[in-house]
Amino acid sequence: MSRLPTESAVRIASVSPDLLGTYGDKGNAEVLRQRLRWRGRTAEIVTVTGAVPTGCDIYVLGGGEDSAQVLAAQRAARPPGLRGAVERGAVVLAVCAGLQILGERFAGPDGHDHAGLGVLDLTTTRRVRRAVGEVVATPLVPELAGTPLTGFENHGGATRLGPTARPLARVESGVGNGCGQGTEGVVAGRVVGTYLHGPVLARNPALADLLLEWAVGEPLPPLQVPAVEQLRERRLRPRRRLPRLNRSTP
Ligand code: GLN
Repeated sequence: MSRLPTESAVRIASVSPDLLGTYGDKGNAEVLRQRLRWRGRTAEIVTVTGAVPTGCDIYVLGGGEDSAQVLAAQRAARPPGLRGAVERGAVVLAVCAGLQILGERFAGPDGHDHAGLGVLDLTTTRRVRRAVGEVVATPLVPELAGTPLTGFENHGGATRLGPTARPLARVESGVGNGCGQGTEGVVAGRVVGTYLHGPVLARNPALADLLLEWAVGEPLPPLQVPAVEQLRERRLRPRRRLPRLNRSTP
């Protein structure tokens, strides 16, 4: 992996945040920038609301509603497009609708299939019941071993990974990709897809640092941020089950 000179600003593209930005996903780009700044490096966010430029180091896509997602897919397909950036070796984080867009096909608001960008070997169809709630997942990527992933999911899509796609994690609680494979998200080269909102990088700093290390091409010094550690501890604490409501009681 080639090293980015320390004095060069890391360019983080926030792709179509006007269409893809549910549940605070826009915050993922800010987390990446801040974790670089805390380490004395310069970083800038490039907000992309048209065709996707190829010159950035990291591309971040968030979640979105069904119709916004179709528009975002059409935009991201305009040449040179996100595909061009991936072919150049850029790092990508794609959340929920973003993940679906990067696949081969996804189910649109009209129930019909829509073409994805074909960057990832996966296909998304419609679930019978929406997946809504907290997720805990065990990473399957060696660099993230020992740091469970947490996030919030809300999606109507079920994503089946093809033979060349590796899952990001194994679901411990929640739904994740939701195709009976017990998997959450996907990793292919330097492209990571996940169903986790939160924003996911605020809740999972190890994942943020992995993406940053891929982008800068060298290990980064560890960071201690007590507020982030406290938040993680709270999210991972086992929850006491609440008594079920008796729905027949008036
Ligand atoms: N519209 C997609 C779905 O419902 C993505 C949702 C999201 O990004 N939260 O599956």
